[in-house]
Amino acid sequence: MMNNSRPRVVILGAGFGGLWAVKELADKNVDVLIVDKNNYHTFLPLLYQIAAAEIDSSQIIYPIRKITHKHKNIDFLRDEVVSVDFKTNHVYTKKHEILYDFLVIGLGSRPYFFRTPGAEEHAMKLKDVKQAIEIRNRILTTFEYVQHIEDEKLRRELLNFIVVGGGPTGVEFVSALMELIQGPLKKDFPKINFDEVSIKLIESSDRLIRMYSEKQSKYVKNRLEKMGIEIILNTTVTNVDEYGLTIKSGEYLVSRNIIWTAGVQGNPISQLWGLRMNHRGQIMVNKYLETVFENVYAIGDIAAVEDQEIPMVAQGAVQMGKFAAKSILSEVSGKSTKPFKYKDKGSMAVVGRYSAVVKIGRIKLKGIIAWYLWIMLHLIKLVGFRNKLSVLINWSYSYLFFEKSNRFITPLIDEEKYPFEEITPELKKLI
Ligand SMILES: Cc1cc2nc3c(=O)[nH]c(=O)nc-3n(C[C@H](O)[C@H](O)[C@H](O)COP(=O)(O)OP(=O)(O)OC[C@H]3O[C@@H](n4cnc5c(N)ncnc54)[C@H](O)[C@@H]3O)c2cc1C
Repeated sequence: MMNNSRPRVVILGAGFGGLWAVKELADKNVDVLIVDKNNYHTFLPLLYQIAAAEIDSSQIIYPIRKITHKHKNIDFLRDEVVSVDFKTNHVYTKKHEILYDFLVIGLGSRPYFFRTPGAEEHAMKLKDVKQAIEIRNRILTTFEYVQHIEDEKLRRELLNFIVVGGGPTGVEFVSALMELIQGPLKKDFPKINFDEVSIKLIESSDRLIRMYSEKQSKYVKNRLEKMGIEIILNTTVTNVDEYGLTIKSGEYLVSRNIIWTAGVQGNPISQLWGLRMNHRGQIMVNKYLETVFENVYAIGDIAAVEDQEIPMVAQGAVQMGKFAAKSILSEVSGKSTKPFKYKDKGSMAVVGRYSAVVKIGRIKLKGIIAWYLWIMLHLIKLVGFRNKLSVLINWSYSYLFFEKSNRFITPLIDEEKYPFEEITPELKKLI
């Protein structure tokens, strides 16, 4: 313990795991430092709506300091974590060295490309706000460009959109993309022949959203096909290049707009730190969420818990974050803890306007009731009252008027270009 003061808990990542751990430790007998490369928390379940121009990025992100400033024992550091030395209890970020008594690693996940050549390089990803804006920019730029092209073959090539991965994210995004294109973009670009647009969804298994019942999968497939989306099942992608992708039959599908939502793995940053890892790049933890190093916990997408199959979803991260925080408090006060047990509180996915699937225990719903439940739950879970209100207004407007009001091609800011952030030795001492 440092300077005979209170134990210092350092939390890496202000995602669903890290932030809920912080909430649990607020005003308790520990000092907490939460570190994230962004100064905001992202509500990832609605990320695809940024990509589909439905909502603005500011509506699903929330300032971390707005949570931390309310509690004297919590501080925030905006910096990128680089490595950890578990022998000396130090975290190294790009600009600082941080000493910890307890460490909670919640650095999330990354897309996984199944070693498909060219996929990481050429496909667009949907894992953070920047990538979502990049997708939106690319879709809108494509239409701006296509309206001036006279060559029909080239137009068709550019208007081929392919989403790889028929899990919930792929399904939600592809339906929102179709609604964007066949709704507002059709009105915006009267010179374009929209029969030339094609949207394909490729899935390697024999059905979409495999974690739901067969009936629900079928419902989703029918629904997407009715919207005009081509579903290609039992098909893996074997290569991706600048102009398209190859599928396992050898067929080459031309597309300049490939969006990869097929796989997910633990954030690979921790792979070099000497922790025990599994084949999905996750840190292996015991049933108390402890790693092989003393007082070091891993939570959320980056953690794989001994003898438990926990899906990489927000609920899993929240439950693990709360548990790790409570365990630390128990340890500090010399109490014992019961092992962690994940409680599946259900899952849901939306398939365009008035349509969704919901699975809560044995209850399986599809259609408009599921859609209302999806809307309600996402509004409840979204962090921040302002975000809830503005998303509700946005959705009401878009459902009433068939609008997607964030059709902006916006410049992306390169964060590395802020020289005034160079840390001074005086400032370093304070951290
Ligand atoms: C597009 C999409 C849709 C999803 N939809 C759903 C859904 O509908 N329902 C559901 O339950 N789950 C959904 N998920 C999954 C869910 O969002 C994750 O399971 C959850 O976010 C995991 O929480 P986490 O705390 O482990 O990681 P995250 O929430 O990803 O947080 C990780 C944090 O670590 C920070 N970080 C990463 N690397 C560094 C670094 N080197 N230095 C400093 N900070 C760093 C990041 O900035 C981030 O704030 C979705 C995920 C995505 C990508």
